[in-house]
Amino acid sequence: MQAFVLSAPERLAAVDLAAPAAPGPGQVMVRVARVGVCGTDIHSYHGRQPFFAYPRRLGHELSGWVESVGADVVGLAVGDVVAVEPYLQCRQCGACRLGRYNCCENLQVLGVHIDGGMCERICLPAAKVHRADGLTVDQAVLVETLAVGAHSVGRAQLAPGEAVLVAGGGPIGLAVALLALAVGARVALLEPDASRRAVATRVLAGLAVPGSWLGSQAPPAATEAAAAAVRERFDGEAPTCVFDATGRRAAMEASFALPAAAGRLVLVGFQADRVSFANPEFHRRELAVLSSRNSTAADFGTVLALMRAGLVDAAAWITHRATPDAFPPSLAEWLVPGSGLFKGVLAWDAAVPRSRS
Ligand SMILES: [Zn+2]
Ligand SMILES: [Zn+2]
Repeated sequence: MQAFVLSAPERLAAVDLAAPAAPGPGQVMVRVARVGVCGTDIHSYHGRQPFFAYPRRLGHELSGWVESVGADVVGLAVGDVVAVEPYLQCRQCGACRLGRYNCCENLQVLGVHIDGGMCERICLPAAKVHRADGLTVDQAVLVETLAVGAHSVGRAQLAPGEAVLVAGGGPIGLAVALLALAVGARVALLEPDASRRAVATRVLAGLAVPGSWLGSQAPPAATEAAAAAVRERFDGEAPTCVFDATGRRAAMEASFALPAAAGRLVLVGFQADRVSFANPEFHRRELAVLSSRNSTAADFGTVLALMRAGLVDAAAWITHRATPDAFPPSLAEWLVPGSGLFKGVLAWDAAVPRSRS
């Protein structure tokens, strides 16, 4: 079978691999249909991903169809459209015992710590394969990205009508904004890039909660001006919850100044460097700072329900698409600044597996 392996930074190539053996007990074989490319893959591609070893088969945003099921698998049948939850946890560490297995101490993410799903077929534990009945494989490949947003909104425990600022309108920021709107929050999304704002406008159309707003300010800089513009939108009040989805250190540090007193700040974006803040202002406002990492099966369920309700327009999200034959050169073109890449997907044009029974 065809697969794509990153052998060294900026060296992605198609390789021919043996197809996996039949799924074992409790496992499912997935015929991969779509693989999304995200910031993590791009960092790995450029050699900037911590804890990443080469060679590595990429691919953690995966959709496809069930090709075959092992013994003891219930609830999945050959031909089902599925979304893959790419986080494999130990189920024994303290975080796992608390049910917080998205931050398992021994977490293995497909395509990062272990070989991923950029291949035609992959066997996975059935619990990681979510039925996406009623959805297309283009929608199902977006579930993981949106689930990261769902997880952060769950961490924040948003209330309907609450004033929320999302800094950064890339795929994760847009996922946070969409999920926050879905729980009835008023959302201001700040994104300086016009092509990203155009995607956000399409994606969020139909979800508008009165008082929500898409701003063109860069999230970090001009903190006072940006903060004043946001307060103006929220009837003179500072947002009670701020999400950073930029992953940029300056923006993350500036975001400590933005929440109202007794508010919270949720850092969704990843930054390998130190992030610091001024204690007096933080202390005076008794802020809560939360990190949000990956997502859980429950977050997948939240997103699948939103998709079934028709709230996720995959055509608006997916800006770039490549067939396997064109994939490595296409990816290199997508990564050139100015390409307008928002979400790119590798698309296998496979026939839907049919049950033999
Ligand atoms: Zn991703
Ligand atoms: Zn664990």
